[in-house]
Amino acid sequence: MNKPAKPASGMLIVLSGPSGSGKGTIIKSLLAQRKDTVLSISVTTRQPRPGEEDGIHYFFRTREEFEDMIAENSLLEYAEYNGNYYGTPEDSIKKWLQEGKNVLLEIEVQGAEQVMNHRSDLVSIFITIPSMAELERRLRDRGTETEDKIQGRMQVAKRELTRAFRYDYVVLNDQVELAVQRINTIIDAEKMRYTRMENTVLEVLQDAQSE
Ligand code: 5GP
Repeated sequence: MNKPAKPASGMLIVLSGPSGSGKGTIIKSLLAQRKDTVLSISVTTRQPRPGEEDGIHYFFRTREEFEDMIAENSLLEYAEYNGNYYGTPEDSIKKWLQEGKNVLLEIEVQGAEQVMNHRSDLVSIFITIPSMAELERRLRDRGTETEDKIQGRMQVAKRELTRAFRYDYVVLNDQVELAVQRINTIIDAEKMRYTRMENTVLEVLQDAQSE
């Protein structure tokens, strides 16, 4: 007789990539396609940009509030980036994973490395760009940044690219829809890893033994 399937635990997925790599657009499209995947909302001490809302884009907190969260151990990881703290609240992630949802963390490389160091079940993806010239073009196209800021972001991008080797996968964003497709392929394949399918195999074996 078929038993109702146990809900499988979701996957924790880290996504990093330089500013201008198109992470935000990729994630938007991915979330619209995958009802099994949610995006973790980070806490930050930086000021909201126009149009950003507390609890939707980030939880905007003071430095003091953020440092309390560090002291209470309520962050899965955190890093200081551009003079501000950014961190991932741990509670909601646990709940989503138990509900079987994949949880996406869109975080920079220092924070990603912290998670890699203590979560062996993590799937990590680095989004890359076709060339530095293309990155520069994308940063200039935004039209919002000063020359100094653009040069600064290019330097940070170079540093981040030197950490790409720590990630399980590197996805080239030459075209957004192709990049989304590549990430979908990774998620679908990762779901079939033996460790994630072990319970299914063991249940079949148990059934076979009790027959
Ligand atoms: P922005 O200020 O442009 O929203 O984000 C700056 C950088 O912080 C981005 O690279 C983004 O991926 C990263 N970031 C956002 N949330 C977190 C977080 O919770 N932890 C870490 N380590 N980085 C984050």
